[in-house]
Amino acid sequence: MKFDVWFCRCGHIHIMPAEYFDWMTGDIRNRHVYRVCQSCGAVYEQYLDNYEDGYVICGASPKGFEIEPNSDVRVMMNPGIPVPMMSGFFASYHTSANIWLYDGYNDAHVEETKKLHSTFDAKNLIKIVNKEYPEDYEDVLKSFSCYVSGINWDGTPFSYEARMSMKNVQR
Ligand SMILES: [Zn+2]
Repeated sequence: MKFDVWFCRCGHIHIMPAEYFDWMTGDIRNRHVYRVCQSCGAVYEQYLDNYEDGYVICGASPKGFEIEPNSDVRVMMNPGIPVPMMSGFFASYHTSANIWLYDGYNDAHVEETKKLHSTFDAKNLIKIVNKEYPEDYEDVLKSFSCYVSGINWDGTPFSYEARMSMKNVQR
């Protein structure tokens, strides 16, 4: 994957070229990255772990800076990309179960509203990514659509069917 995709608890998506993390391969025990979400201020520590014959980028839950004396760290700050919902609001919450919710719903039709507020607007996200990453937007979206389950990409070039047909063409 060309981009590392990371989700903040505030609902913003952060992306980084995967090669940014290559410097940590020299000493995976001591080299860490602190990612700061400039949208909500949360701080996450990321590190590499061995995976098959390579590495996987791992992340810890939000916490403060706890830098060990001999560690080698880099700090990355980024506001991230807001995630548009069908409700017209942006996601303001994210859990590991890929549930995106605007946290302002409280009307009489809670179930209806909940559904709307947890429905992701893929087409609008494509527009936002296109604007933020005009050069790389296809690679960025491919990275998103591979990492995130539970999001409906139907009718976009990043749906499961579209990805499969792209593969078939390449064969
Ligand atoms: Zn955040």
